[in-house]
Amino acid sequence: MSVEVTTIYPAAAIYTMDPSRPTVSAVAIRGERFFAAGTLDEMRSIANYEVDNTFAGKILLPGFVEAHSHGMAAGLWMHTYCGFFNRSDPNGKIWTGCKNINEVIDRLRVADDSLEDPNEPLLAWGLDPIYFSEERLVGSHLDQVSLSRPIFVLHASAHLATVNSALMDLEGINSETPMEGIPKDAEGNPIGELQEPAAMSLAGTVFRSFFGRMKAQDTKWALGRLANKAGITTLTDLGNPLSTNQTTIDEWRDVVDNEAFPARMFIFDSPAMSQTSTENLLIAKEKSSDKLRLGAVKVVLDGSIQGYTARLRWPGYLDDRSNGMWVFPPEQLTELLRPFHEAGLLIHVHCNGDEAVDVFLETVETLLSEFPKTDHRYTVQHCQLTSPEQYRRISALNMCVNLFSNHTWYWGDQHVTSTVGPDRAARMNSARTALDAGVPVSMHCDAPVTPLGSLHVAWAAVNRRTASGFVLGAEEQITVDEALHAVTLGAAYQLKMDGEIGSIAPRKFADLAILEEDPYTIDPNDLRDVPIWGTMSGGKIFPAENT
Ligand SMILES: [Zn+2]
Repeated sequence: MSVEVTTIYPAAAIYTMDPSRPTVSAVAIRGERFFAAGTLDEMRSIANYEVDNTFAGKILLPGFVEAHSHGMAAGLWMHTYCGFFNRSDPNGKIWTGCKNINEVIDRLRVADDSLEDPNEPLLAWGLDPIYFSEERLVGSHLDQVSLSRPIFVLHASAHLATVNSALMDLEGINSETPMEGIPKDAEGNPIGELQEPAAMSLAGTVFRSFFGRMKAQDTKWALGRLANKAGITTLTDLGNPLSTNQTTIDEWRDVVDNEAFPARMFIFDSPAMSQTSTENLLIAKEKSSDKLRLGAVKVVLDGSIQGYTARLRWPGYLDDRSNGMWVFPPEQLTELLRPFHEAGLLIHVHCNGDEAVDVFLETVETLLSEFPKTDHRYTVQHCQLTSPEQYRRISALNMCVNLFSNHTWYWGDQHVTSTVGPDRAARMNSARTALDAGVPVSMHCDAPVTPLGSLHVAWAAVNRRTASGFVLGAEEQITVDEALHAVTLGAAYQLKMDGEIGSIAPRKFADLAILEEDPYTIDPNDLRDVPIWGTMSGGKIFPAENT
């Protein structure tokens, strides 16, 4: 009888995240799974093995797990990028950041010139008016680009958009529009900002074409390329209202289950938007494969802190503006989640502000008292302003947190000067407090809000440096090992996939991040710059240079 060949890969160093054997020097892989982790000598009795020295000089970690990203992260590149930071597109081209309002206008003018059809809307993304100290970028600035072509610019937070007068005229957004989330000037005219999904959807056909175009199949492949360059082998689409729709499932399966796609994908539904039933979610869950996971729930409670739409407890925003917005009515959360809770579905809830965290904790406490469960893995997504007493309660309720550690770098300076001030900014994404309270921690990039990149996410939590170079909340720094655990096994745990991925151990899927330098021995300040050679997904090697 012939035995399937097992390939043994020696490496310069291997960090397993397996507590009984945290470092080894070789991994053995049979088919899609790890067969053994140890030394080459220990593996001599494996039947029918061969040694492959491809990784002899490399550092191996479990493939990174991004437990909060969005399927549209690559699709946005179909539209014009006008964010503040330089950013690399799926083909590796670097787009320079727009550092002031004039640079945004110039970037949009170039895009305007390139459109042949005068009625085709100009679609752009990545805008972040909070960086522009001179004045707030509003619709009238976009009128300088075109008075006739509708312009829709999604903000970096993805919670807001700025539009021009032509778009507002086309869609009938005016002084009479009564909805919350449409700020108006002193004369009562909308300033061109659409806050949160309900207001953004008033952009009608333009809004639909913005998101519709990003569903093209090649954008899913592009997402795989972005993940591969970042060492990520498991992605999430956290909140897709069409996740139980057979066409959506078929489209994702067509890409993700293809053996040339370098990552697993977990798609969470967004039942607050889809009104999907428990039954449909359970049916979808049954359609999961090794690489494509379905049948979990994500709810967005509030907005974003840098967009001033997150719900904060007293004392609120520094400038005394009104509190943020509820994206879902807090008094309905328990009712919404009850059937999913009883069915045992995995539930994650977006809470940026500390008032939103209170609402989620109250709901979980109610549901657990009605229908007790121990291993539920309720996860607070973002969890940015959570206080120590809230972390103690999160721990008591056996919940998890997925922190948005990148915020310190991308918006830390603005949080100090503009949104919540230095004291509350210092406790944002407080990984040290969370770990000390015994809370299972992961950390995420929320791509496309910040770029896919687990080493950057880990670096941000280790160093807590802002873009101006200031250390924000040194007391909340964590170690490199804690941060790398959070973006591997910590994230897998929150997805209830820790039995399959997240560490290098026999039986688990052979998913690896393959690095050129050792993150444990370099200066922790350089963690985000460690070059990534590529990944392995299910035993198949994906060099980043080929993607
Ligand atoms: Zn998100």
